[in-house]
Amino acid sequence: MSNPDLADFEKQVQGFIAEHLTPDLTKAAALGFGISRADGERWHKAVFNQGWIAPDWPVEHGGTGWTMRQKQIYSNAAALAGAPMIMPFGIDMVGPVLYSFGSDAQKAEHLPKILDGSVWWCQGYSEPGSGSDLASLKTSAVRDGDDYVVNGQKIWTTNAHKADWIFALVRTDADAKPQRGISFLLIDMKSPGVEVKPIVSIDGMHHLNQVFFSDVRVPVANRIGEENLGWTYAKFLLANERAGIANVAHSERLVKALQEITRAEKDGYGGTLSESNSFMTDLANTDVQLQALKALEARVVASVEETGAPGDEASMLKIVGTQVQQTLESLRVEAVGNYSLPFETDLIRGESNLPAPGPDYAVSAVSDMNFGRASSIYGGSNEIQRNVIAKAVLGL
Ligand SMILES: Cc1cc2nc3c(=O)[nH]c(=O)nc-3n(C[C@H](O)[C@H](O)[C@H](O)COP(=O)(O)OP(=O)(O)OC[C@H]3O[C@@H](n4cnc5c(N)ncnc54)[C@H](O)[C@@H]3O)c2cc1C
Repeated sequence: MSNPDLADFEKQVQGFIAEHLTPDLTKAAALGFGISRADGERWHKAVFNQGWIAPDWPVEHGGTGWTMRQKQIYSNAAALAGAPMIMPFGIDMVGPVLYSFGSDAQKAEHLPKILDGSVWWCQGYSEPGSGSDLASLKTSAVRDGDDYVVNGQKIWTTNAHKADWIFALVRTDADAKPQRGISFLLIDMKSPGVEVKPIVSIDGMHHLNQVFFSDVRVPVANRIGEENLGWTYAKFLLANERAGIANVAHSERLVKALQEITRAEKDGYGGTLSESNSFMTDLANTDVQLQALKALEARVVASVEETGAPGDEASMLKIVGTQVQQTLESLRVEAVGNYSLPFETDLIRGESNLPAPGPDYAVSAVSDMNFGRASSIYGGSNEIQRNVIAKAVLGL
């Protein structure tokens, strides 16, 4: 696409955002994974109706056919404007597994509802004792006629309490080597025997859950691909997940927000924080890392265009992307100082009648910083990503 065409495209994107991204949606978006299903679906539907919901999918399955540059223009514009995140579990995670490895019946049943946002998914990978060492997972699926009977427990399941379906890794062969005895099942959360229990995390919010399976009957037709080859599909999904966690556009929004905050906050010496050498040097250094990250992200997107999936660079992207996010969140807390101390979850959720004790940008600063610690853990911890780079990239 030529530059003038790109300029037209950018105008179209800005027009769409101006028309559909209402102030209440931007406010709801600040809750991240904690956004209500109604608000999340409202934005999802608007993007779907525009035909832009799955830029990374192949066109024949509902993708946009955009170039890398168009994808960047759209995702940056949406993030900079503060649009709600599109929940990754359907569009970024199970969707690509379905169109790459699913049966025709599975594609026909699930892809349209993932695209239009009418069905929400959650990810059933981790178990107590099986996080980094995921292949040791124990939730079992035993064949009984045309069904599997599933028993076990998943943990840290984001948004399980809002989801209609879970994609779960289960053990179908207890005697094989750990990676060889796993299958990938799609399980209806309304199935008898599925129980969800909440976990409130360090940000004071409820996004996480435990999910228990007691004699849950799951049709064999809900298995993705071959029995015992689930690890292959699971790894394919993880590479897509990691590339998304870097969240470069979100960090760019944070940098812009911080620049504004520094002009409003005092530095304690009669000036504003924007005149503080040490704070502004920290912010500038982080912004430089972010710009390098953008270049790396462009490489990963190019690799997806060539091969259909991100390569091991996704691990680098995840490490640096999460470090940048965490530094920026800490800088926000430093910038707003004492105003970040009141930790009112009702205020953060927008459900309090009381005014915030300080400026609006201080309300969720500590909660966001605390939850941000999780980004270097989920999707495979950053230590595990370093192991991946050592083995797969450096050949050590
Ligand atoms: C906010 C949040 C949301 C999540 N959402 C989901 C979800 O929706 N679905 C889901 O399935 N899971 C989810 N997870 C789980 C996440 O994937 C796991 O927490 C993660 O894989 C780490 O596993 P663990 O918690 O069992 O830690 P452990 O594996 O016990 O690791 C503990 C520590 O040891 C380090 N460590 C472990 N092994 C090695 C090694 N070989 N070399 C070096 N260091 C090592 C780790 O880096 C970590 O610092 C979520 C987690 C969080 C925090």
